[in-house]
Amino acid sequence: MADAAESHGGGNEPQRVLEFYSGIGGMRYSLIRAGVKAQVVEAFEINDRANDVYEHNFGHRPYQGNIQCLTAADLDGYGADAWLLSPPCQPYTRQGLQKDTGDARAFSFLQILELMPFLLKPPSLLFVENVVGFEVCQLGLTHKTNFVTQEFILSPLQFGIPYSRPRYFCLAKRKPYSFVNEIWNRQLIQSPGPLYEHFDTAFIEDDLSQEDRHKLLQSCQPIESFLELKNPSNNIEAESATLGKGDDNVCDSLQQYYVPLSLVERWGSAMDVVYPDSKRCCCFTKSYYRYVKGTGSLLATVQPEKRDKASLKEQCLRYFTPREVANIHSFPEDFKFPDHISLKQRYALLGNSLSIAVVAPLLQYLFANPQ
Ligand code: SAH
Repeated sequence: MADAAESHGGGNEPQRVLEFYSGIGGMRYSLIRAGVKAQVVEAFEINDRANDVYEHNFGHRPYQGNIQCLTAADLDGYGADAWLLSPPCQPYTRQGLQKDTGDARAFSFLQILELMPFLLKPPSLLFVENVVGFEVCQLGLTHKTNFVTQEFILSPLQFGIPYSRPRYFCLAKRKPYSFVNEIWNRQLIQSPGPLYEHFDTAFIEDDLSQEDRHKLLQSCQPIESFLELKNPSNNIEAESATLGKGDDNVCDSLQQYYVPLSLVERWGSAMDVVYPDSKRCCCFTKSYYRYVKGTGSLLATVQPEKRDKASLKEQCLRYFTPREVANIHSFPEDFKFPDHISLKQRYALLGNSLSIAVVAPLLQYLFANPQ
């Protein structure tokens, strides 16, 4: 991993990182992209398909078990400096905790926070990613433990990626460590401005004029630059040739990406349709490809000159391929699925993952030395 000029703690040893809910490794890729001097000493994930993918790419199989079963002694044993967590969305109130204890996967996150005061060697840095509305995190951390937090709600659109996926992030440092920009302590921040050293408050997203907001959107790359299949629908031969070059065989039938007309007829009005020159698409969820409503955008592959006159059924709608979703999540080119992971599993795993373009600068900011 590349060295950052100044890493947290300042020593020569890489920071020891634990990656909880590791999935297909979005956090680990973000850490690499951030260029911080850090080493993942263990990852934890209950889903064996996700672990197959993680192992395929990183050569290490995460600890395959329920995070809820980890004890304070287990955690102390890793001597970790930083914990990265992207728990599944789950009910997070104490009331919810009592209601749903039957689900083995639920509440592992709350439990792990509750262990914090009992650790002999608690981490100095914490990073949590979740859906918007996950404020429990900040409360849990500042209550019994000695952490100072900064919370963010950010979307890849704010980082030049034509993708709307607002997510909540909680960054925490154990005192006496502190953030570079202390003025944002205990704040919920909706602009990437504070992540950059010479941040000028005038950049706050809420203060943007309509015109600046429009410029921000225009500065995004078009969807087209994330596509592996670039030809309009009439050029199936050329498209198939592109797919044929891939090294996995699950995804090399082009036909499976076209949305059946029966679905267009039934759900057309609820579909989010985008074009190669669009500067925005909707959040891909784990149900993309299984359901069309609200699970992610569909790409119109009609020839540009026919676009305006074509009905929705004539727009030749297709799903983004898993590689394209990975590109939109800013995964590196060398990220690969092992052959045995089915198409539906690929979409589900990607839908659960995160935007590296957003998480990498947040991690850089978290690991930076306090001033
Ligand atoms: N950041 C990850 C995805 C996180 S989604 C990525 O980049 O892919 C949440 C993950 O937590 C899922 O993969 C789910 O299988 C796992 N998970 C949920 N509850 C768990 C538990 N109690 N113990 C271990 N893993 C769990």
